[in-house]
Amino acid sequence: MQPGLSAGPAGFALARRRLVEHLYAGGVRDTRVLAAFEAVPRHLLVPEALRGQAYRDTPLPIGEKQTISAPAVVAAMTEAMELEGHEQVLEIGTGSGYQAAILSQLAARIVSIERIPKLASTSRSALDTLGVTNVIVYLGDGTQGRPQEAPYDRVVVTAGGPEIPRPLLGQLAMGGMLVGPFGPRGKQELVRMRRTGQTRFTREVLGPCQFVDLIGENGWAA
Ligand code: SAH
Repeated sequence: MQPGLSAGPAGFALARRRLVEHLYAGGVRDTRVLAAFEAVPRHLLVPEALRGQAYRDTPLPIGEKQTISAPAVVAAMTEAMELEGHEQVLEIGTGSGYQAAILSQLAARIVSIERIPKLASTSRSALDTLGVTNVIVYLGDGTQGRPQEAPYDRVVVTAGGPEIPRPLLGQLAMGGMLVGPFGPRGKQELVRMRRTGQTRFTREVLGPCQFVDLIGENGWAA
């Protein structure tokens, strides 16, 4: 576990423990993933008025018409990434910073891109408050990726696009994986792509899902 992550008072720690038990009961078995959920204080990443609900397994509004995904969804995506600890990860859609904070516990370095200025700055300062030092938040259109820091061992897209943005596949390392929700609005599938060659990928569908829009050059129009 990354040292120095400030986890908040005991009452929240108990609620967090219950959330982890709930995730385990729901089928999450990767012990590193469960430990990350136990370590990250979700209540410090949601709006103050919603802190009391932070450890329920539900999405919550984070302002700017966006939502922090339900913990079970974040857990399923994180588990699907099969992280070992050494990875360079690209996240599209920083939002609250929660998924990034979870990933900070499980991979070496997280590059996260958010298109809404207010969310980029709020999540950046929340991650600072938590003492997370291996996440860097950029403001921009994540559907273009961030070629300057490619290749990435993992890419996770946390907003739903009509199709997988091409640049993100191109920035995957050989053997790397991309996880994200794609398809028509209201009928998205959580997809995992694995890069097996220069122009070869395998594709798996992990299940149906529902996310806010991925908006940008290679996503939905604004
Ligand atoms: N991972 C976030 C999920 C937030 S919801 C969390 O843990 O809270 C999805 C986020 O994706 C929203 O904040 C939205 O503004 C952002 N988003 C949508 N399209 C984007 C794009 N093209 N580039 C970067 N961020 C985008």
